[in-house]
Amino acid sequence: MQKHVAARIATWQAVVSVPVSERIGTAPPYLVEYINLDNILNGFPERPRAAKVEADLLADVKAAIADLPAEIWNLPGQRLLGIYFVENLGGTGYTDYVLDRNAKPVAAYMVFDAAVLARTKANAWATWKESTPFKTGSGYVLDARIEADGDDNRKNAIQYILLHELGHVLSVGTNLHPPWNIAPRDVAGSATYPYSDLSWQIDRKANKYRSLFDARFPQRTSTVYYVGAKLPADAMVSTYANLGNTNFPSLYAATSPGDDFAEAFASYVHVVLMQRPWQIRISHNGDVVKVFKSCWGEPRCARKQELLRDLVERSSSVTGVR
Ligand SMILES: [Zn+2]
Repeated sequence: MQKHVAARIATWQAVVSVPVSERIGTAPPYLVEYINLDNILNGFPERPRAAKVEADLLADVKAAIADLPAEIWNLPGQRLLGIYFVENLGGTGYTDYVLDRNAKPVAAYMVFDAAVLARTKANAWATWKESTPFKTGSGYVLDARIEADGDDNRKNAIQYILLHELGHVLSVGTNLHPPWNIAPRDVAGSATYPYSDLSWQIDRKANKYRSLFDARFPQRTSTVYYVGAKLPADAMVSTYANLGNTNFPSLYAATSPGDDFAEAFASYVHVVLMQRPWQIRISHNGDVVKVFKSCWGEPRCARKQELLRDLVERSSSVTGVR
């Protein structure tokens, strides 16, 4: 896959000659092929196809971008190659590296499932996603709330989904966390990662990332999103109670160093910069039994919040981001 045309920067040279606002649309054939290979490799049953983007969906994507603080959308600079649409992606969004001649990540593209985005609203999408690690039953239900009722629309769902993928693009060419295209055991022992070192260590023998909190957070290794829930419904409360003793901004953040950063970036922009709600509520037989709130402003996430603030401020104070 690293030698596939979609993963080579030379392939994208013509694409980036137009402004990024014009690089939003149907995925090119080489990209569709690449994502099919990725799905096969990672056990996703879906076989993506190129999707036409309806005008109303495209308008919502552009409105979601336009509503972001300007400095946020400018953060990736030339590292963002484009925003592409497929159907049958498996999941909602996807970002992957494009490599230079030395196989070093130098840019990235985002891919979204047009059909999933077309039918979603912010709170329903967040509730669906955050419920996927848990089996159903035992009277337990999880609700996620990322927008007030009046703002609970498709455009705002797309904006939150976009922010997460933007977080992945922003990691390109940085040492925030180890690149996701190399195995944990191949990460140089001498390398330091100012963001992910706050939460992660490498188990080289098992070729896995382990969180620094695993001894006190046994549910983390059974947390699987989207495909095949492993946690029983009655583990919702204990899972979120333990999550509250970590510096992960969300449960999905606890699944990998890359998603830790992408989740933190999305929720930081959403909650701190845009002053929007973010809350997970667990109910049992109709009674609320646990509320998990955003960690920004709390001591447990203070160090990560400083890093995010620096990242946004540093980039907005210079011209010409590389
Ligand atoms: Zn992600």
